Amino acid sequence: MVARELQSAQILDGRVVADEIKREVALEVGRLRDNHGIAPRLAAVLVGEDPASAIYVRNKVRACDEVGIASEQMALPASTSTEELLAVVSDLNHDDEVDGILVQLPLPKQIDDAAIIEAIDPRKDVDAFHPTNVGLLAMGRPRFIPCTPAGIIELLDRNQIEIAGANACVVGRSQIVGRPVSSLLLQRHATVTICHSRTRDLPSVTRQADILIAAIGRPAFIRGEFIKPGATVIDVGVNQLRDASEVVAFFGAEAERRLEAMRERGYTLIGDVHPAEADSVAGCRTPVPGGVGLLTVAMLMKNTLQAAKWRRGL
Ligand code: NAP
Repeated sequence: MVARELQSAQILDGRVVADEIKREVALEVGRLRDNHGIAPRLAAVLVGEDPASAIYVRNKVRACDEVGIASEQMALPASTSTEELLAVVSDLNHDDEVDGILVQLPLPKQIDDAAIIEAIDPRKDVDAFHPTNVGLLAMGRPRFIPCTPAGIIELLDRNQIEIAGANACVVGRSQIVGRPVSSLLLQRHATVTICHSRTRDLPSVTRQADILIAAIGRPAFIRGEFIKPGATVIDVGVNQLRDASEVVAFFGAEAERRLEAMRERGYTLIGDVHPAEADSVAGCRTPVPGGVGLLTVAMLMKNTLQAAKWRRGL
């Protein structure tokens, strides 16, 4: 028998599932083009020069190219005002060629992000942040599902991880991940616990979970003692690590490869879950990078395709 310390959690490879979804989207995009002469189009709006946001938008535009979705990217200066961005959104709302509108968050401080989100036509709201789409999801009859939560459910389903009846614990209650993924898990008949910064004795709560989802934004916050032996651990966090001693402490056998990446770029990415400790306790876990983030992009493609069909009554 393998001793517990030697156990290594199975890695749930986001790339495999994301590629599968993108292949399905590409097939359907081809059918729309051949049978209806429709070419779905995504407009991505980037405000300012945040390097992480620029990478996210570039990855989304690249994914559009892969699946045959047309895309346009608009880069606006960091000094853009709420009124100027509202005017851009209004133009995109009225542009019949545009099926999906994505305004990359976070926006510069002077912009009222709630006003921008609420200005996007809910039928083009492929991020599903508009109150109408949030409400529909909360009521259990979603139109668009936010991309990261939708990707998490696909990842579980396509790895045959049973949701119905499972104890699911979500750490984080953000509008873009924690709350919507909790709604989806509940709709799929999990028993759902939502945790946050005021939760008392967090490890004793998370240790009950068959499916543990971490969406916190704190590097390696979820330690081995937070995890039920054999649990499925979904790591949503994306954090930059720049300290070599932390890299050694967090990554175990993978540390050398990560140190190499850090020497090249100045940082390596880590999630909200301590990878080495999770490996010795969890049944399976998603890696960072290479996990949930790839699914987020794939689901954006799926939502854009869906938007193109719904707008035309298909
Ligand atoms: P967020 O809006 O920053 O919210 C963080 C949540 O974590 C809050 O609900 C907060 O609780 C909770 N939290 C903070 N400290 C905690 C603690 N010590 N104990 C328990 N809960 C705590 O989060 P987000 O926007 O969902 O992002 C979370 C992470 O996911 C970030 O690293 C982000 O970069 C990443 N992300 C990744 C993707 C992807 O595609 N992979 C997509 C979106 C986000 P309170 O509500 O009580 O403050």
